[in-house]
Amino acid sequence: MSKLKAGVVWGDDYLTLLKACKDGGYALPAVNVIGTNTINAVMEAAAKNKSDVVIQLSNGGAQFYAGKGMKDGFKAKVLGAVSAAQHVHLLAQHYGICVVLHTDHANKPLIPWVDAMIDHSEKSMKENGRPLFSSHMLDLSADDIEFNISESERVLSRLAPLGMSIEIELGVTGGEEDGVGSDEIDNDKLYTQPEDCLLAYERLSKIGHFSLAASFGNVHGVYKPGNVQLRPEILKNSQALVQETCNTDANPLDLVFHGGSGSEKAKIDEALGYGVFKMNIDTDTQFAFAEGVGDYVDANAKAFKHQIDPDDGTPYKKQYDPRAWLRKCEESFITRLDEAFVDLKSVGKSLAE
Ligand SMILES: [Zn+2]
Repeated sequence: MSKLKAGVVWGDDYLTLLKACKDGGYALPAVNVIGTNTINAVMEAAAKNKSDVVIQLSNGGAQFYAGKGMKDGFKAKVLGAVSAAQHVHLLAQHYGICVVLHTDHANKPLIPWVDAMIDHSEKSMKENGRPLFSSHMLDLSADDIEFNISESERVLSRLAPLGMSIEIELGVTGGEEDGVGSDEIDNDKLYTQPEDCLLAYERLSKIGHFSLAASFGNVHGVYKPGNVQLRPEILKNSQALVQETCNTDANPLDLVFHGGSGSEKAKIDEALGYGVFKMNIDTDTQFAFAEGVGDYVDANAKAFKHQIDPDDGTPYKKQYDPRAWLRKCEESFITRLDEAFVDLKSVGKSLAE
């Protein structure tokens, strides 16, 4: 198996990593991050599990990274993404794992966000010989299929010369992710049509590399059991149609599983067999981060109200130091990710030398 240099992978190295996942029957967790605590926790968890990993930012996560107080929200979304990418480029190699850098759902109003990030990658390519991100997602699944595909063609034409990839969505992931998406959609839209996958393959693979978030009943967020009907056989049917029509090898589509939080383990397992190389996880890691600080505050309640104990004068500096409780958040986040690496069978599979 070919090895890769530790750090951010893009271009041919990204394709090598992706192929290793599909050939090896495993996938990488794609974890939404919002700041250095979550980014470092993802890299620490990946290193601990000797797995490669996808680090991704939603538009809201990127804005939060730049700071909620920045007056120009659009600028914050762009510069927050750039800043986060620079942080990962500097540190990932020292964690000894390969990191795919990606941005999450961008619907029609967010197309200018994607174009602005590509401007920064073009600049980075000129100055440093590398793009900032490995790929961007363009999610035009709420629009008609022709607009979805033609706009994806336009964006991929900008990405391909930089060695970058695009992730698109066909069919609709239920629920809402950071303001993109809705709870009110027809049930049949929750399931991608194999014919649409074929159309995307025929038109996009000519231009560059694309991956596909195909909907098979998956929903963002965590719901009561029974409310979500996952049908991974939709992925299988889409792969079969492309393979037959275009005379390709098995599993020609590089598939992404959105709404991985709270999914049944058997369905995750089945999806891995149909060419899923990336599974997004956000809701469960958000909860894990919160749980970490919640438990700590419960155990150290006085330190969050007094610098010195009002009764016996005990100083609480060590307990209220933000490093103490932010570390608990990171540890709890890492524990949840340990589970994701096991579910996706990527433990010990890092390609990093
Ligand atoms: Zn998603």
